[in-house]
Amino acid sequence: MNPITLQEIERWLKESDEKTLETLWARADEVRKATVGDEVHLRGLIEISNHCVRRCAYCGLAAGNRTIERYRMTREEIVDCALKAVRLGYGTVVMQAGEDYGIVADWLAEVIREIKRQTPLAVTLSLGERPYEELKLWKQAGADRYLLRFETSNSHLYELIHPSLPGKKSDRFEILRQLQELGYEAGSGVMIGIPGQTYATLAHDIHIFSTMDLDMIGVGPFIPSPNTPLGRGEIHFDISPAEQVPNTELMTYKAVALTRLARPDANIPSTTALATINKESGRELGLMRGANIVMPNLTPVQYREKYEIYPGKACINETAEQCNGCLRGRIASIGRTVGTGQGGRVKRSK
Ligand code: SAH
Repeated sequence: MNPITLQEIERWLKESDEKTLETLWARADEVRKATVGDEVHLRGLIEISNHCVRRCAYCGLAAGNRTIERYRMTREEIVDCALKAVRLGYGTVVMQAGEDYGIVADWLAEVIREIKRQTPLAVTLSLGERPYEELKLWKQAGADRYLLRFETSNSHLYELIHPSLPGKKSDRFEILRQLQELGYEAGSGVMIGIPGQTYATLAHDIHIFSTMDLDMIGVGPFIPSPNTPLGRGEIHFDISPAEQVPNTELMTYKAVALTRLARPDANIPSTTALATINKESGRELGLMRGANIVMPNLTPVQYREKYEIYPGKACINETAEQCNGCLRGRIASIGRTVGTGQGGRVKRSK
């Protein structure tokens, strides 16, 4: 099958007829089944710190937000979560945090080595824009994958919502290249319906997924977070209402399905943000329209509510065991199976 074109992507993003969209869901599901199969892999998420030096206009953890209490997990707490991941049958842990330089590179390398010594888990990191030397150190310590969404490929919009640190221009595409060079499986993605995001921009985002040889791609709806400039509506965007992509559930399914068509063999999660805007069936519908990954939360309950990237996050009060049971039930209910092993990307021909 020929890869989906930029024009086709934009046309689908603007499609609103439910019957016509059925054909998009069916095509994405068919491609998902033929490439990554029926197994849904579970990645246990450990939110290891909510400290952050950045001032992203969309994120509730941004520096300067004094309404949240900051925490950083200890090595013992993190390793305990990893051991729990093994007990719950997961093949991967994802350590995610704000861009927190209190997470010292050598310290994290030791945590990674400890997890690798004690478990057969794949280790994924999602820690923001860390320097090359640190990424290298963590790879050598045994880290397997790194997630860094580029958020939007429109550089003007990116700078507005993701200000650079003084003296250092933020270039996530360059860091993704470094990650690939270092041998990480690299993941990226975007938010759907960021204020200022046009259909043309989102179509371009999805189209370039196909050119980047990404192993993982996460797309989730933008959810306004109070105490952020975007949540308060403080940034003005120069686009017409007709051009603005809505941050809806339907638009997110379209983006998930189109991402599958753009990158047939990538690992694509049905995201927590999607489950947040449709707690009933968002996870399942994401899995039925292109996704093949779910990320159950392993973060100790006392830290969960402090990792408030956006409000109303799904599963916020559930223990790791409850999350596990719930997600396995949801996966079984749609006739899919839970994958075993690390569930890395199985590359088809390039
Ligand atoms: N500090 C890391 C991890 C950030 S959290 C980093 O910057 O890469 C992971 C993802 O959550 C972000 O990449 C972003 O795409 C998403 N996110 C942040 N704020 C959000 C919001 N208000 N609504 C929806 N998704 C959001």
